[in-house]
Amino acid sequence: MLLEKVRIPWAVAHLSKEYKVFGPVTRRSYVSFQEIPDGEGLNLEYTTTTLPPKKLFHHAETLLHYHKEDFSAPKLESDQHVLLFGVHPCDLNAIQRMDKFFSKDYIDSYYCRRRERSVIVALNCGVPDDKCFCASLGTGPDVKEGFDLLLTDLGEAYLVEVGTSKGKTMVAKLGLKNASQTHFHEKARRLREASKKFKKQIRMEGLAKQAAENPNHEAWALIGDRGGLAGCFACLSCGNCSMVCPTCYCYEVAEIPDVSLKEGIRKRELDSCQLLEYALVALGQNFRPDRRYRTRHWMTCKFGGAGGQQNTSCVGCGRCIRSCPSHIDLTEVARSLWGE
Ligand code: SF4
Ligand code: SF4
Repeated sequence: MLLEKVRIPWAVAHLSKEYKVFGPVTRRSYVSFQEIPDGEGLNLEYTTTTLPPKKLFHHAETLLHYHKEDFSAPKLESDQHVLLFGVHPCDLNAIQRMDKFFSKDYIDSYYCRRRERSVIVALNCGVPDDKCFCASLGTGPDVKEGFDLLLTDLGEAYLVEVGTSKGKTMVAKLGLKNASQTHFHEKARRLREASKKFKKQIRMEGLAKQAAENPNHEAWALIGDRGGLAGCFACLSCGNCSMVCPTCYCYEVAEIPDVSLKEGIRKRELDSCQLLEYALVALGQNFRPDRRYRTRHWMTCKFGGAGGQQNTSCVGCGRCIRSCPSHIDLTEVARSLWGE
């Protein structure tokens, strides 16, 4: 099916009758997922957002209130269903990994409930930016599953493909024109062109092993302590890289008692293994006291080698590179580990 670009605001407004719709919006020079009830400000030409759409599913929240004699879980957010419009393949891939983590061995009802009430309109990428490298990882620039609807920019219109029954119901309400074989050929041509535009790449196969077998490689000292790898400065332990990473899901849970000591809350907040306190345990022992150990741990996790394995590994969105104040680049670290 085809959705003409001029009809996008109308389509979003129509879908807003049933869903709380979020999409990429440009504010100053940054793009972020914001609520767009009438499609106003929607920017489907975007290359990346500062924070990935995980912010809508996994974020700081109060898990329960407790009182001296009992406790109660706060009501989960409104029952309204959420629609994410314009999610890129790398981010969709990351959401699928997070779904596995939060629903496989231990079910996180807060996360799962939000995901059950969400639908995703994905958007294939036409123009990757100079920090993207999803093509090396098979997580972009196109996507084949995990969406309810999938859009591909064909110029005047988007090709719309259906992924689920929810997606089918949505398009039935939009009354779209049928697409022809020519439109699918044009989609394939545009994606082939997009694949040629990547400036960065990474050789990921075997990289976690390579990192694990080289714990004292010079790369760790350069990025952690001294700087100098491909022009980077030393890591500042700011945690930006993991906060913006769509596959980082670590969080901490804190008990916060009221001053009366008769009640309090249990709160979850996102955490980062790049922060000094992350590996701090009783009696002040810290398993990763130095920045080189923390950057090594985080990167090894992104290479698929830490506890999260494929669920936390990289999808090539490039956000950690864009947001690192020390210009540390995961793809350059990989090159160094490979001896390139
Ligand atoms: S490690 Fe960096 S490039 Fe890879 S998914 Fe996370 S933020 Fe994106
Ligand atoms: S964003 Fe850069 S400086 Fe900050 S913790 Fe990550 S690697 Fe270190």
